[in-house]
Amino acid sequence: MRDAQGREIKYLRVSVTDRCNLRCKYCMPNGIECVEHKDILSFEEIRQIAECGAKLGITKIRLTGGEPLARKGCPQLIKLLKEIPGIEKIAMTTNGTLVRAILPQLVEAGLDEINISLDTLDAEKFAAITGQDLLPEVLLAIDAALAAGLKVKVNAVSMPDTDWKRMISLAKDKPVDVRFIELMPIGEGRRSEGRSNEELLEEIRKEFPELQTDDSVHGAGPAVYYKIPGYQGSVGLISAMHGKFCSSCNRVRLTSTGFLKTCLCYEDGTDLRQILRGKRMEMETVSGHGEGSRTGKGQSGAAGPENNELLDAMARAIYGKPAEHCFEQPDQITEAHGMSAIGG
Ligand code: SAM
Ligand code: SF4
Repeated sequence: MRDAQGREIKYLRVSVTDRCNLRCKYCMPNGIECVEHKDILSFEEIRQIAECGAKLGITKIRLTGGEPLARKGCPQLIKLLKEIPGIEKIAMTTNGTLVRAILPQLVEAGLDEINISLDTLDAEKFAAITGQDLLPEVLLAIDAALAAGLKVKVNAVSMPDTDWKRMISLAKDKPVDVRFIELMPIGEGRRSEGRSNEELLEEIRKEFPELQTDDSVHGAGPAVYYKIPGYQGSVGLISAMHGKFCSSCNRVRLTSTGFLKTCLCYEDGTDLRQILRGKRMEMETVSGHGEGSRTGKGQSGAAGPENNELLDAMARAIYGKPAEHCFEQPDQITEAHGMSAIGG
């Protein structure tokens, strides 16, 4: 569907958990106060929301977090989502440390694309950024995902000391796009120092004067791509701060607790969990035999064809999506949660 600005909203990012096994310094260096399990959406609840999303025009879903693979059963969720008519693509954004053990099940379930977050190829720096000595595992995960036939992108948050030349070398040797993301003033990101992609692009151009703009479509996102002749993958710049792309924004986000967020910058959106669970309680009262389990399929009436409350709430929230973010005026940011809670 289109929002009030006329933007077509086709892409839903789903945070399946706010938990993570890493402690990235710009994200959750000291961990977070995790949401209780009972407050997290069940897979069935996520499926119901995704089904309504598909009815409203969502075609692509990305699982993220926290670390999505820190939650058990992601293949099961992917399978549920892949079965929804209209959902064409399922992607995942992960730190890569838990990928290899579960990769065959993820692929079998229908995962199409994987974005692996990796800020450095230096083992010591990796440990300093993430709190864990796991660079070799992430590199093995990239190779394993490529070997399994997945489309792979590597995302690096651009920092003043990012060794971008070394990061770009990944795209030379492997068919992966290496993308640099500008740090956003969300959560801990407010206390970290990022770097402008404009500045980075200037440096890349100096080093590679033969750099060409790559107009081919690489996905549904806002990255601008460049090609270095002879490199297998492209270089992408995601310039949320210095290249505001709000006018072409096509996404909304679902937090792990079921809040449909329409912009990273603000708390705008709607509490879908309340609708799902409120409705279920009502149904249980009427039927007189409440179900104990949060995950059972028998509870799926809340988003059934006869029930439009969820659909209406989502449609209203999407229609009212803010026109643009206000990262350049930090005093106007109303989002108080960190990136791990809102799904990056
Ligand atoms: N744990 C997974 C991962 O790291 O890929 C998924 C969640 S993480 C919040 C999603 C992405 O957000 C990662 O690429 C991470 O580097 C990025 N990120 C976290 N905080 C950020 C910030 N303040 N600004 C820009 N990107 C950020
Ligand atoms: Fe975890 Fe991802 Fe946040 Fe790093 S960026 S702490 S991997 S959620």
